[in-house]
Amino acid sequence: MAMNALIDCDATGQFIDVEYIQSYELHTYHLPCTIPVYNVDGTPNEAGHITEAIDLIICYKDHNEWSSFYVSSIGHKAIILGHLWLVKHNPEINWCTGEVSMTCCPESCGTTEQGICLTGSKPSGQAGSEQVRAVLTIST
Ligand SMILES: [Zn+2]
Repeated sequence: MAMNALIDCDATGQFIDVEYIQSYELHTYHLPCTIPVYNVDGTPNEAGHITEAIDLIICYKDHNEWSSFYVSSIGHKAIILGHLWLVKHNPEINWCTGEVSMTCCPESCGTTEQGICLTGSKPSGQAGSEQVRAVLTIST
């Protein structure tokens, strides 16, 4: 599956659009407690509180990682990678071309180039997660 990944440094977490979950019938899990959601302008998000999350393998070029995403109504059938993701992976961003290079990743990130098996870095007993090939887009 391919999908758009929006890099948004104002976002507090990682999110995946609820319509995408529904259209591909992806398996989510319930969060132990709900998370209230507000839009950028401070109004409550129309999808309400977040009650579910999903673990996905995100592939971008030769970069792979397991990541958890909160299920919310973010539109565009996409995922949002927020500030925490930027801090963790510290990607090089060419702001002129929008090109993203994953050159400063922590060791927990796998790369197909080095032949690292991704399943090794995922907590055990959580097989069956979906794999998503991401197209990274910068939010300005
Ligand atoms: Zn990484």
